[in-house]
Amino acid sequence: MAYRADITIIGSGVIGLAVAAQVASQDREVYVLEKNKTFGLETSSRQSGVIHSGIYYPEGSLKAKMCVAGNRILYQLCEEYGIGHRRLGKLIVATSDEETGELQTLLARGRRNGAEDLRILSRREMKELEPNVEGVAAILSPSTGIIDSHALMRYFIARARDKGAQIAYRAKVVAIEKVADGYKVTVGEGAEEFSFTTRILVNCAGLYSDKVAELTGIDIAKEGYKLHYCKGEYFSVGGGKNRLVSRLIFPLPPPKGTSLGIHVTLDLEGRMRLGPSIQYVDSIDYAVDNQHQQLFYDSVIRFLPFIDYDDLEPEMAGIRPKLQEPGEDIKDFVIRDEGDKGLPGFINLIGIESPGLTASAAIAKYVSGLIEELLAK
Ligand SMILES: Cc1cc2nc3c(=O)[nH]c(=O)nc-3n(C[C@H](O)[C@H](O)[C@H](O)COP(=O)(O)OP(=O)(O)OC[C@H]3O[C@@H](n4cnc5c(N)ncnc54)[C@H](O)[C@@H]3O)c2cc1C
Repeated sequence: MAYRADITIIGSGVIGLAVAAQVASQDREVYVLEKNKTFGLETSSRQSGVIHSGIYYPEGSLKAKMCVAGNRILYQLCEEYGIGHRRLGKLIVATSDEETGELQTLLARGRRNGAEDLRILSRREMKELEPNVEGVAAILSPSTGIIDSHALMRYFIARARDKGAQIAYRAKVVAIEKVADGYKVTVGEGAEEFSFTTRILVNCAGLYSDKVAELTGIDIAKEGYKLHYCKGEYFSVGGGKNRLVSRLIFPLPPPKGTSLGIHVTLDLEGRMRLGPSIQYVDSIDYAVDNQHQQLFYDSVIRFLPFIDYDDLEPEMAGIRPKLQEPGEDIKDFVIRDEGDKGLPGFINLIGIESPGLTASAAIAKYVSGLIEELLAK
């Protein structure tokens, strides 16, 4: 166990890779450990690919701050490094006068969060932009867009490697022990097992980040770190309807911030899909239940009257790592050094659900700030 790293990051989803790209430097030993055979095979490739603008999240929360900052950084990175993206804009559509009042509340919250370009459209203005969408009014968010999340991850990998970081695949972290001035990390299983020490350990393990935190002895139930899996399914829209909208079209979100409501996303090829739904589940299973087709149809028909039931085909699913239990109010990201639990240099990122993709580069800067403070001590 002679080997000693400076910074070790667990997980090569978009968050772990963004952190690696930010903190790597030629005079540091930086490692990313990934249990799968390659990067980004879990939540980071099972999501909508939307660059959010920061409308929904409670004022002052990390979700709000990281989303608004991350939105700006992502567009800059996309433009500078040719990462596939489109600043399509989005509408949040009210379908009744009662919902129009809720639009005002959302608009005010979004502006307080720093999404300054939002504005309310009348029905006529909305129809000028999106003639095929039905509603009484809408919020226009011009800075919402879409991004090629794989290209973003490849960019973070290239940047991390250029600065000397190494990424180890098929390297599952199975044990963590606090030792003098750092952590002993055990990777692999059985005969393949090996250990090394690291001064800083960053937990970016996505759906398993609560279990990784538990390896250090943290009582995850007591600390409120236990994750609840919340599945989101998608249905693709066929029937030649792809070109009938040119922006992302969202309903008003359901209460308590569990999700944004089943909405229309477009990918960079212009394909249309609906999703993600919300369903708390006990285990990780990405199958899409075709019995849910009616739910998808019923959810969007009010504002997308051109969709026929038979246009919908089950597509894919992702699973949100939620700190929020069913029925609870929205919970913020946990991003913190655990020094106050006797674990200085162990940085947890737990509950990094949406807008984690949008926030990735901003989260990486935030984590880098925590690490620089620790290293300066
Ligand atoms: C349905 C859905 C839609 C979404 N849509 C959007 C969107 O449009 N816009 C947006 O901004 N955000 C969106 N998000 C959120 C975004 O996708 C996530 O916040 C982000 O991908 C999380 O990245 P991550 O790196 O934390 O997790 P992951 O991508 O899950 O990566 C974690 C990695 O850790 C590895 N790992 C776990 N345990 C270990 C271990 N013991 N040892 C080694 N490696 C380990 C895993 O194998 C995995 O590769 C969506 C999420 C979902 C579920």
